[in-house]
Amino acid sequence: MSDIPSTQRVLIFDEYNGPLVVRKAPVPEPLDDELLVKVEYSGICHSDLHSWNGDFDYATICPLIGGHEGAGSVVKIGSKVRDWKLGDRAGVKLVNANCLNCEYCKTGHEPLCDRIQNYGFDCHGTFQEYMTIRDVDAIKISKDMNLASAAPVLCGGVTAYKALKEANLKSGQIVAITGAGGGLGSFGIQYAKAMGLRVIAIDHSSKKEHCEDLGAEWFVDGFETSEIVDHIKKITNGGPHGVVSFVSAKKPMEQALEYVRKRGTVVLVGLPKDSQILVNTTLLIFNSITIKGSLIGSRLDTDEALDFVSRGVVKVPLEFVRLEDVPIVYEKMKEGKVNSRVVVDFSL
Ligand SMILES: [Zn+2]
Ligand SMILES: [Zn+2]
Repeated sequence: MSDIPSTQRVLIFDEYNGPLVVRKAPVPEPLDDELLVKVEYSGICHSDLHSWNGDFDYATICPLIGGHEGAGSVVKIGSKVRDWKLGDRAGVKLVNANCLNCEYCKTGHEPLCDRIQNYGFDCHGTFQEYMTIRDVDAIKISKDMNLASAAPVLCGGVTAYKALKEANLKSGQIVAITGAGGGLGSFGIQYAKAMGLRVIAIDHSSKKEHCEDLGAEWFVDGFETSEIVDHIKKITNGGPHGVVSFVSAKKPMEQALEYVRKRGTVVLVGLPKDSQILVNTTLLIFNSITIKGSLIGSRLDTDEALDFVSRGVVKVPLEFVRLEDVPIVYEKMKEGKVNSRVVVDFSL
């Protein structure tokens, strides 16, 4: 297509915590099995801040173009691509390049594949105007969906949705969500409601109204409530059937193991600082409790998570910024001042 430029703007850093600068870079050519996607929106996730800080143990490349919640349109197609056409809308998520052939790929757990590449971490991500992606990795976004709303679902939304699925709950059962007023929690409350679950939101009292507006049936102040374990057991008549833990502090994670209902499941998503929590194994055994970790969703989970948003049952409050404003957003994230999903709008 003649209107594809030869250069583009990318947001890049050369060293961890170093300046984040907008630079010109060549627009890449898609390989035979790749699409060239014009990125129109990219969500800004908390993990992007961590990768810029160099907080992760595993190897992230540097210099790096961050970002892993991209939504845009297909502007060029490799010669062997079959299932995409020009103008299709495509999502670019975190996990790509999985082998498609290992036990995990074959059973729909491709984020656990040993061969994955994480966009915005160990290869360049979505803070660029044009990027290539293997056809099987790109996520189809329907024409009737708001493209900007799709972006934050590709990491934040699907992470919350997958964690709820992992809790194995039935409609009518109760789920407690910790960190309910934050980004993942706000998605979590809405997905849980849409899945027919009853929600206890646990967070700071300043988030009460927000959580109730999103559909939480109960709100518990996780900081000020005395005897919180007994309180939660009492209001739920024996404890919630599942807990999805988005907080990264130890105490609320340990409390969840105490108040979850017998035979209940606690799904951990937030990571405590040194990765350690205390587990009372007597409690675990006598109450037959399951503790699980959940990382992110598969391609199918992503399709499902997008469908809820496309049907309007899960809403994504958005705030738009320019590519060069990402450093300001990181500063706000550090101060805990980001309440909506912040999305880079490349047309600004
Ligand atoms: Zn993310
Ligand atoms: Zn694999």
